[in-house]
Amino acid sequence: MSSNIRVQRKCQHCGNLFIAKTTVTKFCGDDCAKRNYKKRKREEKVADSNEETANELQLPLIAAQSKDYLEIKDLQPLLGLSRRTAYRLIRDNRLNALKLGNRYVVRRKDIDKMFEI
Ligand SMILES: [Zn+2]
Repeated sequence: MSSNIRVQRKCQHCGNLFIAKTTVTKFCGDDCAKRNYKKRKREEKVADSNEETANELQLPLIAAQSKDYLEIKDLQPLLGLSRRTAYRLIRDNRLNALKLGNRYVVRRKDIDKMFEI
């Protein structure tokens, strides 16, 4: 649809003033439209990537939070406890744990109990 209107607008990409034929034109030309589109896509990718990283960092914590029976590796995201410290707490009988095969299993309630003593 062509019109006879001419309005001055500010390009949303380069900031230059230009004369547009519609009141909704955002860019001074195809170049700026394309560059802005690419910039937006790039920013979306960065945002997606950041979100993915955040999710990956959260996964061990979310997994540990949903378990009643925890492994040593769950104690790190949950309590910030290193493996060494976890083994020491078990060895010193400060944290109750059951050895199943070659790994320890800790009940969530035994972790809570540690706080009560
Ligand atoms: Zn422009």
